[in-house]
Amino acid sequence: MKLIGLLGGMSWESTQLYYRIMNETVRKELGGNHSARILLHSVDFHDFEQLQHKGDWTGIGRRLGEAAHGLKAGGADFLVIATNTMHKVHDEIARISGLDVLHIADPTGEALRRKGHRRVALLGTRYTMEHDFYRNRLRDHFGLSVMTPDDDHRLEVHRIIYQELCHGVIREESRRLYKDVIARFEARGAEAIILGCTEITMIIGQDGEKLPIYDTTRLHAEAAVRRAMVSVR
Ligand code: GLU
Repeated sequence: MKLIGLLGGMSWESTQLYYRIMNETVRKELGGNHSARILLHSVDFHDFEQLQHKGDWTGIGRRLGEAAHGLKAGGADFLVIATNTMHKVHDEIARISGLDVLHIADPTGEALRRKGHRRVALLGTRYTMEHDFYRNRLRDHFGLSVMTPDDDHRLEVHRIIYQELCHGVIREESRRLYKDVIARFEARGAEAIILGCTEITMIIGQDGEKLPIYDTTRLHAEAAVRRAMVSVR
């Protein structure tokens, strides 16, 4: 089994989900006491959130690239960046670390395309919803047309991620807001919803939703395990 390099801590609330899903997937596939081979570098998210706020993506790319380089030196075979937002600098991280990155949008794009979806809705941080790195990848690699919430809802979706979900706080009021945003997507003709932030799965699931929900955390973690196990099966 290959050694998965995991760049996490963004936030650690979602990195623990990656850890669990990766190990559960290996146990399901191989049985017994098998578990995933993972090398984790978990950053202090405070520093990175400040850099995001300042718009210093060059600094983020350099620092995450150096962290990932350490994972390569430790023997990681490929890299999983456990956040959608930081894929904005995934080229830089790949370049500095010398590791191949399993892009988080790809397993999601593949799953959506397999089901024949074309018009999809994206929930995530403002960086993921508003900058073009994520939507363009879904469009260019998977032919998807991506809609995002209106201005006010984008701000709220973003605020809830950083001020609640990243702190492990789940509020019913916030769950209602997300559900309301999803209902509006449905009215606008969305065929599926992408949880394009690795914490959103803590507050929204398939239960009670009519539209199919694509959880990037689970899809990414499972894809990483499939890649790690290529040599095993
Ligand atoms: N985990 C989040 C994501 O998937 C947001 C935290 C971050 O800014 O990295 O985008």
